[in-house]
Amino acid sequence: MKKILLCSIIFVLSFPLLAKEEVNVYSARKEQLIKPLLNEFSRTSGIKVNLITSSEDALLKRLQLEGKNSPADILITTDAGRLYRAKVSKVLQPAITIKMQNMIAKHLQDPEHYWLALTTRARVIVYAKDRVKPSELSTYEALTDKKWRKRICVRSSNNIYNQSLVASMIAHKGKKFTAKWTKSLVKNFARKPKGGDRDQIKAVAAGQCDVAIVNTYYLGQMINSSDSSQVNATKKIAVFWPNQQDRGTHINVSGIAITKAAKNKKNALKLINFLLSDDAQFWYAQVNNEYPVVTTAGLSETLKSWGKFKADTLDLDKLGLFNSDAVKIMDKAGWR
Ligand code: FE
Repeated sequence: MKKILLCSIIFVLSFPLLAKEEVNVYSARKEQLIKPLLNEFSRTSGIKVNLITSSEDALLKRLQLEGKNSPADILITTDAGRLYRAKVSKVLQPAITIKMQNMIAKHLQDPEHYWLALTTRARVIVYAKDRVKPSELSTYEALTDKKWRKRICVRSSNNIYNQSLVASMIAHKGKKFTAKWTKSLVKNFARKPKGGDRDQIKAVAAGQCDVAIVNTYYLGQMINSSDSSQVNATKKIAVFWPNQQDRGTHINVSGIAITKAAKNKKNALKLINFLLSDDAQFWYAQVNNEYPVVTTAGLSETLKSWGKFKADTLDLDKLGLFNSDAVKIMDKAGWR
C-alpha cells in the first residue's frame, strides 16, 4: 500500500515536467508577419506556440462560440476598435501586468488592463508630389475645403481604419461636428471608395486623385516591395503628417490580449513579455513597417525616412467606444 502511495506521489510530482509547455494564439496578423517571432520565442523559452490565423471578425466570433472551452490563450488583432469589441464581448481577461503597463504609454493600453498595443501605425495623408504642395495641407478637418473637390481617394466605410479615424474625430470634436465633416469629406472624393490602402496610393500615383488617407505601413510595404511598379508608385507620392499644430496625427495599433478561457496564462504572459522586449519590438516593427510601442527599441530605415511626428494621444479605447456612432455618421454621409 505504502509503495503504491509513494508511486502515485512521484507520478503526480513529475507530471508537470512531462506536460508539454505550450501557448495557443489566435491572430488576425498575417502568418508571415508574426510566425518568425513566435518561432524565436519557442526557441528561447521551450514553449510551443500553436498559431491560428484568420480575420479579426472570424476570430472574435469563434472565441464567443467556444466560450470557456476555447483553446485560445492569446488574441492578436490589428486595430484598437476590435480589441475593444473583444473586451465588451467578454472573451478577454484583465491580465496585463503592472510591469507591462509601465513599459508603454497609457493611451496605448486598455485602462482596465484587458489589452495593450504591440505596435502603432499612423493614418496619414499622402499626396502627389507633382500636383500638391505640402503647404496646401494641414489637418484632416481641412480636407473638406472646396479646393479638394473630387481630388481625394480613400477606401470604403466598412473598413475599420476609417471607422476608427471617424471615431477619433467624434472623441475630439463631438458628433455634430463630425457628421458635418464627414459629409463634406465625401463630397471631395474623387471616386466611389474601392480597394485597400495600397490601391489608394496607386491611384494617387496614377493621377486618379491627388491625395489619399492611408496607413503608413502600407506605404512601407510598397517601398520595400519586390514589385518594381509598387516601388515606382511610391516615388511619385510623399507623406504629410496631419494635425501637427494641434492634437497630432491619428494613430491605431496592433495589439494583444489574454483570453478569458486561457489555460496557459503563465505562458501567455511570457509571450507578451517577449513581444515587448527591445529586440522583438524592433523586428516586429521593422517587418511590419510599424512603430514600436517600447521607445527604447530602434526604428527601421523606412520609418526614419518619414521623419518624426506628433501622434494623437487619445485613449484608444475611445475608438471602440465611438465605433457604432462613426459607422452611423459615415452611412448617413453616403460614404460607401
Ligand atoms: Fe491593415
